[in-house]
Amino acid sequence: MMLYVKIKEEETAIFVFFFIFLFTYQHLNIHRMATATGKIRCVICNKGKSTLRCGGCLKEFCFNHWEPHRQQLNKQFDEIEINRDLFRQSLTEQTEQPYNHILIKQINKWEQNSIKIIEQTAEELRQVVLKNINEYTHQLEKKLNELTNQLRQSRHENDFNEINLRQFQEELDKLTKELTKPSNISIREDSTPFISKIYVEVSSKCVTCSLINENLTIYRKL
Ligand SMILES: [Zn+2]
Ligand SMILES: [Zn+2]
Repeated sequence: MMLYVKIKEEETAIFVFFFIFLFTYQHLNIHRMATATGKIRCVICNKGKSTLRCGGCLKEFCFNHWEPHRQQLNKQFDEIEINRDLFRQSLTEQTEQPYNHILIKQINKWEQNSIKIIEQTAEELRQVVLKNINEYTHQLEKKLNELTNQLRQSRHENDFNEINLRQFQEELDKLTKELTKPSNISIREDSTPFISKIYVEVSSKCVTCSLINENLTIYRKL
């Protein structure tokens, strides 16, 4: 009876030991064997040793090279956190100063460029008009002098009638009209748009929204 109990205890102990071993084996992913020496090769040193298998990259690492691999992953994790902080900062700036958004800047740039083009074109046209105004003002000056001489002469000689008066008046009207609206210079407006118009298109599809949805899906799966 006593012997039987003792055997049962030993069996139990063996079972417990077996399960602990199995649990540890699975938990740490310790892989042995597969080489001539019965060990898997480490991906870093290529030596057949007891190895740990990384659940992410599925590569085998010996105990010496397991920690550096984890350190490398930690380093990458740190970088992601730093980038997250930078993004947090950018998002805060964006919220506080929406007028600094790149799309707003794009519209501002279009506005500035358009104004610049209009200003340049207006200035070029002004120069063309001014140059021609100078020339025709000179012509008007000459014609006014001629009319003045005729008037003085007529007054001096006291020799004029209704016909002369009408001619003088017509000549003066003609010069006045020339002064305000030159017959050889005109401004024409093109029917086609000079500045290309820009549009803002807002689509119902939102990349960020779908990203968030995807992430939510992934987390749900996990
Ligand atoms: Zn190694
Ligand atoms: Zn890995």
